[in-house]
Amino acid sequence: MGLTRYRKKRDFSTTSEPRAIPARSGGKLRFVVQKHAASRLHYDFRLEYAGVLKSWAIPKGPSLNPQEKRLAIQVEDHPLAYADFEGIIPQGQYGGGSVLVWDQGTWECSNIQKGLSEGKLEFALHGEKLKGRWSLVRMRGDRRDGKNWLLMKVRDRYASATANILSSSPLSVLSGRGLDEVSAEEISKAELRQPNTTKRSGKQGT
Ligand code: MN
Repeated sequence: MGLTRYRKKRDFSTTSEPRAIPARSGGKLRFVVQKHAASRLHYDFRLEYAGVLKSWAIPKGPSLNPQEKRLAIQVEDHPLAYADFEGIIPQGQYGGGSVLVWDQGTWECSNIQKGLSEGKLEFALHGEKLKGRWSLVRMRGDRRDGKNWLLMKVRDRYASATANILSSSPLSVLSGRGLDEVSAEEISKAELRQPNTTKRSGKQGT
């Protein structure tokens, strides 16, 4: 897919999201799950492959219960640098709202190319919150555009029918912040960067 669609959807003079530069990471493949308060809260699930992050938006977020299949809508590939993005996407921009890095780590899969093309990926996650075996399966009968997949926990010692990982571990693994703190801190940082909006001595507002 490349990064053309990623680039087209964004105005990099306005958003602080990373520019679309493909990067190499040696050795292990990274994964990241970002919690994103856009017009609707969702979780963005991203798997590094071939120099980009293959990406799915998961409206309900991942579940540790193997019986709960979670809709995962494939979206455009993102640059690898996006895995570290936490902050605010400006309102009016694509996906405007705050983003935090909800989980990160590495992932393993025996045949990624085949899995992606056949619509059945079986893999292991080595994250701080998500661990063990998982699967992503393209929905049959999704003739519209083939973008609807299902994310499922595979039964193993990390599966749980009762734990709610989203509510028990809601914060960023990078900063320990919640979404409200991310937006509050980023807004005050932005104000500090813009001298026009701060008071100057001797001059009060007009
Ligand atoms: Mn998103």
